[in-house]
Amino acid sequence: MSTTAERLIAAGHKPHLDDDGEIDIFAIDFGHHNGPACSVCAEGRCQHCDDGSPFEPCPGEEEVVRRAKEKRRAQFDTLKAEFEPS
Ligand SMILES: [Zn+2]
Repeated sequence: MSTTAERLIAAGHKPHLDDDGEIDIFAIDFGHHNGPACSVCAEGRCQHCDDGSPFEPCPGEEEVVRRAKEKRRAQFDTLKAEFEPS
């Protein structure tokens, strides 16, 4: 069976690397959980909990930025609606 990192890469993700240039399997690290994560979109999985299913394809940097902007705009619109009731 392929590793969590191998399946992450197969879906086009770019895992965080450690100081030695190896895939950082502690990019996700909490409690007893740890695993690799994408440096572009933050997708990742604990390698102990990983069910072996494939990852969704990496959306890529432009799409990540676009989604972040969209989210910010939506938050702003919500605030604006509170201050300027129609
Ligand atoms: Zn990604």
